[in-house]
Amino acid sequence: MYLEEKKKIIDAGIKLDRYGLIALAGGNVAMRVPSGEILVTPSGMIYEDMEPDDVLVMDCQGNIIEGTNKPSSDTDGILYIFNHRPDINATIHTHQPYATAISLIQDEFRADLTTVGNACGGNVPVTRYSSPGSVEMGQDVVEYLGDNRDLHAVILAHHGVMTVGNNLKQALTAAVYLEETAKAYLAAKACGETKHLSDEQIKQTVEIYKYVGQGSASMPEGLTDRIES
Ligand code: 13P
Ligand code: ZN
Repeated sequence: MYLEEKKKIIDAGIKLDRYGLIALAGGNVAMRVPSGEILVTPSGMIYEDMEPDDVLVMDCQGNIIEGTNKPSSDTDGILYIFNHRPDINATIHTHQPYATAISLIQDEFRADLTTVGNACGGNVPVTRYSSPGSVEMGQDVVEYLGDNRDLHAVILAHHGVMTVGNNLKQALTAAVYLEETAKAYLAAKACGETKHLSDEQIKQTVEIYKYVGQGSASMPEGLTDRIES
C-alpha cells in the first residue's frame, strides 16, 4: 500500500541526511495521503537502511493499518498536527544544528534574510519547551504556527525543528533553507549586531516566493518594487 509515497518519505529522509539536517536516526518524516491515512517513519531507524515496508500506515487515531515496526516516538504529536490542521499533509522533524541553536538564545528567528521568508513563510517562532514524544510537542507546533497559513516552520525549544507543508516538498524546502539561513544568521551574529528587514519587506519576500518555480503563476506587476527600509 502507498509504495510511491513510502519511497518519497525515505527519499526525503535521505535528503535530510545529505543536507546535514539529521544524524543517524534523528528526526522523522510523516505524510497524509488523500484517503486520510497517515504514513510515518519507524522509530530509531536510519533512512538509508529503510525499505518502503518499514514505513507505517495508520489511521488518524494512530491505529496501525500496515507495518510491523514501532512507529516514530513523536507519533502522538504528529497526529495532533494532522488532526488540527487539515491543510497540512506533511511534517518533517529534525535536530538540524544551526536552527536548533537559535532556540537556545532567542524566541524567534526573524526573516531578515529573504530565504527565510521564501521557504518558511515569515518569522519562525521558537516554541515553549515540550518533551520529545509528547502530544504537547504537536500542540505547540499548531499553537505557534497560529493562523498564518504561509508559515511552514517552528523551532522546538531545546530540541529541534518541525516543518510542515501542503506536501513533502514544501516541508523539505522549509527545513533545508531554514538551516542554510540559520547558519548565515549565526555567523553574522557572532561578528556583531544584525540588520533587519522591515515587516513590510518580509511580507513582500513571502508573496514573491509564491510566484517562483515551475508551475507557479507569473509574477504580478509591481510585486518586486523596492520597499524602502
Ligand atoms: P523517532 O526515531 O522515534 O522518530 O525519534 C526521533 C526524534 O527526533 C524524537 O524527537
Ligand atoms: Zn527529535
